[in-house]
Amino acid sequence: MATLTFLGASRTVTGSKYLLEADGHRILVDCGLFQGLRELRRRNWAALPIHPASLHAVVLTHAHIDHCGWLPRLVSSGFHGRIYCTAGTADLCSLVLPDAGRLQEEDARLANRHRFSRHTPAVPLFTEADAAAALNHLEIVNFDRPVDVAPNLRAEFTNAGHLLGSAFVRVSRLNGIGQRILFGGDLGRYGRPVLPDPMPAPDAETLLVESTYGDRVHPDADDATLLARVIEDTRARGGRVIIPAFAVGRAEELLYWIKKLEDAGRIKPLPVYLDSPMAVDALNFYAQHDKHLDREVQVGTGALSAFSPKRFRAVSSPKESKAVTASTGPAIIISASGMATGGRVLHHLASCLPHAENTVLFVGFQAQGTRGRALVEGAKSVKIHGTMVPVAARIEKIDSMSAHADSNEILRWLGTFQTPPRQLYLVHGEPPAQHALKARIEHTLGWSVHIPQHGEKVEVPL
Ligand SMILES: [Zn+2]
Repeated sequence: MATLTFLGASRTVTGSKYLLEADGHRILVDCGLFQGLRELRRRNWAALPIHPASLHAVVLTHAHIDHCGWLPRLVSSGFHGRIYCTAGTADLCSLVLPDAGRLQEEDARLANRHRFSRHTPAVPLFTEADAAAALNHLEIVNFDRPVDVAPNLRAEFTNAGHLLGSAFVRVSRLNGIGQRILFGGDLGRYGRPVLPDPMPAPDAETLLVESTYGDRVHPDADDATLLARVIEDTRARGGRVIIPAFAVGRAEELLYWIKKLEDAGRIKPLPVYLDSPMAVDALNFYAQHDKHLDREVQVGTGALSAFSPKRFRAVSSPKESKAVTASTGPAIIISASGMATGGRVLHHLASCLPHAENTVLFVGFQAQGTRGRALVEGAKSVKIHGTMVPVAARIEKIDSMSAHADSNEILRWLGTFQTPPRQLYLVHGEPPAQHALKARIEHTLGWSVHIPQHGEKVEVPL
């Protein structure tokens, strides 16, 4: 037997961290940052229940910050093992972790300057230097090739189709005897551009699966049509479309659709600004790893060209970004962060939200406690950099563009098990979504489903 402790993404969608202990060895699967509600973010400051130096290794499913963003803190707290991940994940981590460190430092600086922190002086959770130190621990592994991650544990990564490099990871004993645990990571979508479908699930007796959209089915809408309507309506009003997007993952798909719409003559070409140096670098990584992408964007046509609308401009320096904020006339601005919790998109929001001709378009999940969630739920004003900003712009969302499987897609993927798992743990979801998905799985598949709470420890056969 082994024990599994749920140290994050339990009854919430951020902070993914699962501690697996077997025969005196410990590994951590994912090491994500908590985001959203203050009570969740406070957990980022708490120590793990075990000393980081006692961990043999970390296994990383993918490079989204809610799965990898606590790594710098783990390393600065004494972890000295290896962090196993795919090449795509390592590349994206080399972008998102230093950026997260910079943001932490910048937030602390701003808070100190404007004195809007409750803590004086405000200190960053980790720094850019901590992030650089964490990157030195990355160990690249291939998809579908088992790798020994601890003296008694082996891990195997399978393409999850959720983000470049994303994987679900099956952990088993080195000798192949005994039972297996499949960490589902985040599950991608079926039949989408840019990323491939999630691979069929390798059999395992214990399964952790995400439930972000466990109570929802993404509308069977044509994303391209929805996007075209938002862009054309806003252009007709003389306004701008601001799209808060995760710098890694979402920007590629948006650019892909915008280009497609232009090529088909369904929208008039507008200036399209990708205002995130990280997103620009991520685009290049997508092009480099195109063999792990959907066939449609693989080289031949040139992966980068699939992401380049006619009047596309990558914005790098803060000076250029300011110039874009100050410019006028219809345009599309894609900028991070995706839930409007920080980053350059805040400057665009502060400038565009007060004006009715503009549109803010959300294309990803908005967690509780984020500005994005407040806007989607109709907030009349939001606080940005310590100032209340009135909301007159239109707020739109296209849920079907999410990178997370919906309830039907999760069931479809569960249906790929040759032999059903004996125990399924639902993680990475808010309680209403989790209860709905639990009921559905129990009803349709008859599997045993448990929704662990934060800090819960369970015995798992291994
Ligand atoms: Zn993710």
